[in-house]
Amino acid sequence: MKIIIHGGFFSESDQSHEVKTAKQNSLKEIAEKAFQYLQTHSAFDTVAYAVSLLEDDPLYNAGIGSQIQSDGVIRMSAAIMNGETQKLSGVINIQNVKNPVFVAKDLIDEDDRVLGGNGAKKYATEHGFENFSTEIPQRRKEYEAKLNNGGKGTVGCVAIDKNGKLAVATSTGGKGFEIPGRISDSATVAGNYANEFCAVSCTGVGEDIVSNATAAKIVTRVTDGMSLETAFGKTFAELKAIDGFAGAIGIDRNGNVYHQDSYPTMVFASFDGEFFEVFS
Ligand code: ASP
Repeated sequence: MKIIIHGGFFSESDQSHEVKTAKQNSLKEIAEKAFQYLQTHSAFDTVAYAVSLLEDDPLYNAGIGSQIQSDGVIRMSAAIMNGETQKLSGVINIQNVKNPVFVAKDLIDEDDRVLGGNGAKKYATEHGFENFSTEIPQRRKEYEAKLNNGGKGTVGCVAIDKNGKLAVATSTGGKGFEIPGRISDSATVAGNYANEFCAVSCTGVGEDIVSNATAAKIVTRVTDGMSLETAFGKTFAELKAIDGFAGAIGIDRNGNVYHQDSYPTMVFASFDGEFFEVFS
């Protein structure tokens, strides 16, 4: 059993020592809680749980604390993928729900598994998700000051459970100040992908992640026999060639855990019950 989580990147405006320490402590705490949960739950249930804890923490740009788009509205996206069944479900540009990842999870048993905008919100309401504003005053202040801190606080989790099953979930408030209607990478196979061999979650500039097909490429390479580390290395070399800004976390079916970023400021933590690795 192993778990790795990310909380996006440090952006220029939150490089302070306090924010860094707060993120280190919060990631460590969430990784530990999620690992406890993994003792008695599947990887699939655990990644949703871990991402919901990250969504609930206003330090990150997902759920509570999400970025505001150019028209003053928050629209969030999230996806989950079960490596065993190879099913992905997700919501794109959903408004006013506390935990987009749980709406994504509820969709896994539907025939129509990725919903956008009003349809996603309608589905959430019909499935008992209350109206909830995820706006925090700091984001409104940044928005009003036309301060785009560049998003880069997407959250994600990859887990392998005691049966060797893999799963991944990813959730984002987007880049901030985006044109309404923009679709981020998080609820696509470029940002969030898993099968029985490997699972990967990405953060960074969604357009770069999609252009490079990042998560799907890493997983496919591992499926075809490449080691996790080599698959990350090759995929990030390709990302670098297009000057892409991204980071990713992954686990393979042998329990190898890996992370890489094209700008070394990704915020992450991993835990295997004994050993913590936290970004520094
Ligand atoms: N990938 C997200 C997006 O482009 C942003 C992020 O990772 O912070 O919407």
